[in-house]
Parts: sequence; structure tokens; C-alpha cells
Amino acid sequence: MRGIASVLFLAFIGQAAHAACDIEIGSTDQMSFDKTEIVVERTCENVTLTLTHTGKLPVNVMGHNWVLSRSEDFNPIATDGMAAGVEKGYLKENDSRVLAATKLIGGGEQTTITFSLSELTEDEYVFFCSFPGHWAVMKGTFKIV
Ligand code: ZN
Repeated sequence: MRGIASVLFLAFIGQAAHAACDIEIGSTDQMSFDKTEIVVERTCENVTLTLTHTGKLPVNVMGHNWVLSRSEDFNPIATDGMAAGVEKGYLKENDSRVLAATKLIGGGEQTTITFSLSELTEDEYVFFCSFPGHWAVMKGTFKIV
């Protein structure tokens, strides 16, 4: 009985892990993400994240990206990103503190990135939009379970 139960349990975990490796997150003209927490499974080899901007405003007015970092790097990345300007997607070029980032998009656009969890050994990170001022409200927790 125990054998059958663990096989069923593993099958269930397997499905859950698969489902949690593909992440979709929406963003709006109201300066918001539709999620404040993203949970992925440690067993995901790669995470595919799709950011959608359901608004209408252009990228230089209401641009959004999705940036992943350690919580202590969040403020410095955002501050340096502001200096980098809109052409650089409000991120310093080759910023090694950035663990993953999409491009900056405007209303009606969508962008997808794939990144590996192999270097992400901590259980919790933060995600945010690096557009000036947005990170105050457009941020959340990225958990690896
Ligand atoms: Zn934004």
C-alpha cells in the first residue's frame, strides 16, 4: 500500500512541478502587476516567464519589465536603472545583480524569457519593474519551493 501511495504522490508532484515552471504575469496602465507572489518548483530546470502589458500607453510613458534580484539588490538596481534611461530598458548594462529580466514593453505588448534556477540557491527573491517610480508598487516575491 505504501508503495502505491508514494507512486501516486510522485505523479502528483511531477504534474505540479511541470505546471509551476511556466509563469504568466500581467501588467496594466494603472502601474500594477496582477501578481504579488510567484511560486516555482525547485525541480524546474528552467522557468519560462511571459509578461503581458494589457494597457494602451506607450513604453516611454508606462513601460514595464520584470526584473528578478536578491532583496538587498533591488534598490541599487532600480536606482542605477533610472540613470541608464529608457533606451537601456531602465537597467544598467550587464548588471550582474540582475538575475533575470525581460525587455521593457509598452501597452499591448508581450515578452517572454526563459531562465535557469540552478544559480538561484536561496528560497526567496524579489521581482519588480525598473521603470522610474514603478518599483515602489510594482514588486513582489519570487519563491522557490
Ligand atoms: Zn512599469
